[in-house]
Amino acid sequence: MTETVTTTPPAPLRQPVPFVDLQAQTDEVTHDVRERWDRILRTSGFVLGPDVEQFEREFAAYSGARHAVGVGNGTDALEIAFQAAGIGPGDEVIVPANTFFATAEAVLRSGATLVPADVDDDFLLDPRDVAGRLTARTRAVVAVHLYGQMAPVARLREVVGPDVLLVEDAAQSQGASRDGFRSGGAGDVAATSFYPGKNLGAFGDGGAVLTSVDDVAERARRLRNHGGVNRYEHLEVGANSRLDALQAAVLSVKLTRLDAWNAQRSAAAARYAALLADALGDVPEVVAPRELPGAAHVWHLYVVRVPDRAAVSEALGAAGIGHGIHYPAPIHLLPATAHLGFGPGTAPRAEAHTDQILSLPMFPGLTGAQQERVVGVLRDAVTGRPARRAVAG
Ligand SMILES: *Cc1c(COP(=O)(O)O)cnc(C)c1O
Repeated sequence: MTETVTTTPPAPLRQPVPFVDLQAQTDEVTHDVRERWDRILRTSGFVLGPDVEQFEREFAAYSGARHAVGVGNGTDALEIAFQAAGIGPGDEVIVPANTFFATAEAVLRSGATLVPADVDDDFLLDPRDVAGRLTARTRAVVAVHLYGQMAPVARLREVVGPDVLLVEDAAQSQGASRDGFRSGGAGDVAATSFYPGKNLGAFGDGGAVLTSVDDVAERARRLRNHGGVNRYEHLEVGANSRLDALQAAVLSVKLTRLDAWNAQRSAAAARYAALLADALGDVPEVVAPRELPGAAHVWHLYVVRVPDRAAVSEALGAAGIGHGIHYPAPIHLLPATAHLGFGPGTAPRAEAHTDQILSLPMFPGLTGAQQERVVGVLRDAVTGRPARRAVAG
């Protein structure tokens, strides 16, 4: 590849587009975080304590749950949620086949039986498929609010009935809503993650269990702290998985801006939809994601479906455009679950999506110019057409 300086288009158009850029978000909160951190540094109260309790109250209220219990990370939140709700060996837990491995990992670590189920055209757990997987041993169904849109919680509740627990994996959906429920407030218990790249991210690892069931909250509080709320009084075997005060302070500061950041994501999603319709509206194999009726999507990821993904990915990479695949394999076709004996065909729709999905850059602060560049490169890769001028007529 040769570069000719004189014919290079204006610099901004040629610049790489990152997949995620957290810097603007960090800059926006740094002043307020420093103030909170200065106070904590003078108290030396680093683990749990008043800052964690304050954030737990704020985040519970935000999510529409009675309790939030701050823990070490989102995976621990899932595991503690399962254990606190009494899910364990002998119980079958239904999980959508396309999710981050942690959802399945937490089921397996709890000793329960993993039951993968298929997803719908919007990548979310399909209630009809769930209905076909219910048995006398089904104890819970995990509604993963994938990519920032909530799974159909009202339909899932109808399908599973009152005796099966509805667990939310709300790691990608802080601020989302559907069917009148908010993310983290729709199920019997929910788990979320504050990994830095999530919509509400800490400056390190963090997570929370959410529930409106008092007993489940109390048990989760105990489980995160060696099975005992009072020091050295261990009622059961728990874990060391506590949220720390420095992260809680970051999260409190960021929570006040979360709706504004989610609105920026939403505006960027609308821009992508318009750009894609204009550039690739005549290519039915390119499918843009949609916000469902009755839902508020928070666009943790912007996932399109494309033909010949390997070629598209290569073209984006060559143009310096960050992108990802979430996820390259469904949970039942990973080496870690091979011993469970699931084969291809277990969840056909999720398996088909696996080869088509492509996550485009998405973060608050993504500019229209960056998005035009992303869609331009995507269009050229899909159609093999060179860049064109605006369509006449
Ligand atoms: C990030 C994530 C988790 C795990 O959270 P960590 O904080 O990274 O442990 C679980 N489920 C989903 C869907 C996630 O995106």
